Amino acid sequence: MNIQSTAALIAAIVTFAIGWSVVLRDRTRRPYNLFAILCFNCCLWYLANFLQATLASDAMYFISLFAGVLVPISSLRFFRAFLAQPGDTRRSAPLPRALSTVAAGFFVAIGYAIVFRQGQLHHEIVFTAPLATYIFGGLCWSLGTIYSARRRTLSRVEKTRHAYLFIGAAAAIAFTAMDLLPRFPPVGTVLVVVYMYFLSQTLFRYRLLDLNELLGKMVVLSTFALILAAIYGLLVRWIPPSQSGLFFFNTLVASLVILILFEPLRTQVEGQVFKWMFRERYELRSRVEDLRLDLANEIDLREVVRLTVAALEETRRVTHAAVYFADHDGQGWDLQGHLGPRPVERVDAAARRPFVERITQHNTVALSLEQLEREQAGRPPDDPQNETIDAIARTLVEMNAGVCIPVMADEQLLGLLCLKDERLREAYATDEIDLFRGLAGQLAITLQNSKLYERMKERDRLAALGEMAAGLAHEIRNPLGAIKGAAQLLAPDGQVVADVPAETREFLAIIVEEVNRLNKVVSSFLDYARPYRGADEPLDINEVVRKTMPLVAEAPGVEVSTSLMEEMPRVKGDAEQLRQVFLNLAINAVQAMSAQERPGKLTISTATRKGGGRKAPAKFIEVRFRDTGPGIPPADMKHLFIPFFTTKEKGTGLGLPISQRIVENHGGRIEVRSRLGQGTTFTVVLPALEAEPAHAAAN
Ligand code: ADP
Ligand code: MG
Repeated sequence: MNIQSTAALIAAIVTFAIGWSVVLRDRTRRPYNLFAILCFNCCLWYLANFLQATLASDAMYFISLFAGVLVPISSLRFFRAFLAQPGDTRRSAPLPRALSTVAAGFFVAIGYAIVFRQGQLHHEIVFTAPLATYIFGGLCWSLGTIYSARRRTLSRVEKTRHAYLFIGAAAAIAFTAMDLLPRFPPVGTVLVVVYMYFLSQTLFRYRLLDLNELLGKMVVLSTFALILAAIYGLLVRWIPPSQSGLFFFNTLVASLVILILFEPLRTQVEGQVFKWMFRERYELRSRVEDLRLDLANEIDLREVVRLTVAALEETRRVTHAAVYFADHDGQGWDLQGHLGPRPVERVDAAARRPFVERITQHNTVALSLEQLEREQAGRPPDDPQNETIDAIARTLVEMNAGVCIPVMADEQLLGLLCLKDERLREAYATDEIDLFRGLAGQLAITLQNSKLYERMKERDRLAALGEMAAGLAHEIRNPLGAIKGAAQLLAPDGQVVADVPAETREFLAIIVEEVNRLNKVVSSFLDYARPYRGADEPLDINEVVRKTMPLVAEAPGVEVSTSLMEEMPRVKGDAEQLRQVFLNLAINAVQAMSAQERPGKLTISTATRKGGGRKAPAKFIEVRFRDTGPGIPPADMKHLFIPFFTTKEKGTGLGLPISQRIVENHGGRIEVRSRLGQGTTFTVVLPALEAEPAHAAAN
């Protein structure tokens, strides 16, 4: 048994295994079946070759001839079915007449030779030369099919893939041809086996691009194996078998050399091969990374979108792109920028529930059409889940998204990044999607930064506005005094001035009343705008609450009660100002409840609260105003503490902002909880002055 026939035997076994694995996987797809046939065909050819070489059997020789004649046909049929694009009519076209005619001719010739010439003819050059020409010519036809498929496809990635297929096939054919020469090592056989394995992976892999990686690894591995074999051969092969001592010594040295070289060599080989093979991916990576750096320095969202879309276009790996950002109340996502045809303007959270639920699931990193298709393929057609998946897929299609990557921060979906390469179905390899996810992460950070910035700008704007308003208030207050004085002069305190008619007097009273009201608003506002100046003394908060109670005007159908905790720690602050806060909150509650029909109840209670964090004061005290009023609509919640926000006809909208300012100046805060139709609770939280209760400190 020589090396040629050993290689043939191994090739026969492996090609059979590959073919069988394809048959086991899926028998319904045409390319799969044709590939299996090609495998079995190769297997037969190698097996016959092996048997013929070892048994010197003529029958085996004939079988190998038959198998040889069949190879170009099965190869061409497979490649045509495999490379056909959807909708391609050539898919089921019959084989070229020339090829089948010639094959038939060879069958006849072989049959004729078996019957009449006892196989003599087959070893003569008149027969073998045309046969070899036919076989290799036929295989080159398959090569041509790959080449023209490469020409037809528009996508660069697909082109690269076809190039791999083409180069692999060409090498396998060329070396197999050389194998026919005597004394040539069976490189072709090895190549054919490797190539068949690669083809089978091309069939199975869902993500065709992951093949790149597979191929890369195969190249790395074989390069590496060759280098190691060379080292070993160099050091060991030349030693005659009789010198076992030397043989052992050199094996040892060779192993040492290999071990030392292993790591650096692998890094080198891997680096070089990957750089050479995956240039496109390197380019994408560097472009996206540049973009991430750019985005980190950007605050203006419009510019962010523009940069992103431009960079994506530059990569030439996307034909469609869309960027969506969440709107203010998070009810939907609006289109901010796009590449290619215009996608849907808005993704509404309510209208596209299945999609939103799916993309916000914590383990969703990206959603792709192909993935949905795969999911659906795995289910029976009447599965209720199919409808959901259809709805999600529709949304993706409307967004022009082959892949949609969520832009998430703090469990919130801030935006959507949609990408598609129209030219191929599975456009992005898994690690490329990871790259886009990194981009989405940067987008999330940029979005948050810009929101922070907006808020800072808003605060500056409010501060400036506040100063202006305070100036304005002063300007209003001065003439107010004059107006009131003048009106009162005309009708001093109900005294009848001779020639003022009753009607006019009524109007004068209105002027005075309205001036008073305006004056109150302006004074309150000035209180709000003025820098805080208050006393800073230890207070018993229960005492402050008790003193406030008499001021709370009773209203019909409203009951006010207190529930004060004993032994409260004291707080530091201004009793007068805190009383104003409590009064505001109590009056708001009473007003809210007297506006409703059912009777209401306001409970004012005090309690202590444990502090959290290392630097926070050990304890807080809280004063709670719980009413059973109508509650506050969620939309109003955000505006409660904004000056002049009021829902009352005669309200000023200054009560809560002023209260908040006072409480904040005391180092505390106001918390609001409200349920529509059930009631509202305002809680004033203040830092406690000392851990021990008020009366203990007084002793
Ligand atoms: P004003 O009382 O002058 O309207 P405030 O700042 O005190 O101004 O209150 C602002 C708004 O907050 C009120 O108009 C009211 O709509 C709402 N509000 C405050 N407290 C309550 C409460 N306890 N129940 C319901 N709504 C409230
Ligand atoms: Mg009020």
